[in-house]
Amino acid sequence: MMSAALPLLPTHTLDRCLGCGGRDLEPLALRYEWRGSFPVVRCRACGLRFLRVQPAPEALGELYSGAYFESDYRCGRSDSAYFSEDAFRDENRGLLDEFARHATPGRMLEVGCAGGWLLKHAIERGWRAEGVELSGEAAAHARALGLEVFHGDLIAAALPDAAFDLAYMGDVLEHVPDCRAVLIEIARVLKHGGVLYLRGPITTHSLARSLALAAWGIAGRTIVLREPPYHVWEFTPGPLARLFDSCGFDVIE
Ligand SMILES: [Zn+2]
Repeated sequence: MMSAALPLLPTHTLDRCLGCGGRDLEPLALRYEWRGSFPVVRCRACGLRFLRVQPAPEALGELYSGAYFESDYRCGRSDSAYFSEDAFRDENRGLLDEFARHATPGRMLEVGCAGGWLLKHAIERGWRAEGVELSGEAAAHARALGLEVFHGDLIAAALPDAAFDLAYMGDVLEHVPDCRAVLIEIARVLKHGGVLYLRGPITTHSLARSLALAAWGIAGRTIVLREPPYHVWEFTPGPLARLFDSCGFDVIE
C-alpha cells in the first residue's frame, strides 16, 4: 500500500460525545486504517456515531489537498473532477430552486464552498453569496472567479452576528472536527428566522452499514476500511435532529 510509506496522521482522541457531552461510548465493530487507526464508537446517550480517534485539526489541510477535490470529493460520488463548471450547473440549479422554497434571495453563506461554483450560480440568481473554505487550492480557485471566500475554518472567519438569510453546507458537516461548534456558529451568524440547508450522506449507506455492523458484531469481527478517515461523524436522522435541536434550530424538513 502506498499509504504505508506516509507518516501517521496527527490525531486527537475524544473522551466524550461532542453532540451531547455523553461519556458512555460504545465501541462499534468498525474502524478506518489509513496512516493510523480510527475506531468508530456510538454515544449511548444520543446515538451519534463518530470516530473516537480523529485526525487533528492541523492534519485537515493535508487531508483536503487538491488531490481530494480531484478524486475523493463528495465521497467519491462525483465521477468528474471538481474544477469543471458544467459538471455542477444542473445540480446547482436544483439546489437553488430548493433554497427559493425556503428563502427569498438575500445574503447567503456557503460553509465548505470548494471551488465556488454554487456561489457563482447563486449570485446569478440574485443572492449576495460568500463562502468559507479550508482547502487553499479550492479557495484560490473560487477567488479567481471573483468570489468572496475566506480561506480557513468557519470559526476563524469571525463573521458578524445575525448577518445571513441562508447558510448551506453540502457534504461538509460529517467532515468537521466539532460538528456542534459549527452548528452553533452557523446559528449565531444567521438572522432570526434564517435557514440552514444541509446536504450529506444519510440513508441507505448508513443503513446498509448498520446491518453489516450487526452481522459482523455477532460474528465477533471488526470491519476495517482501508481508506482515509474523511467522515468523523456518521449521522443518522434521529441523532442529527437531536443535535440540531440542542444547537437552537427547528427542523423544517
Ligand atoms: Zn451523544
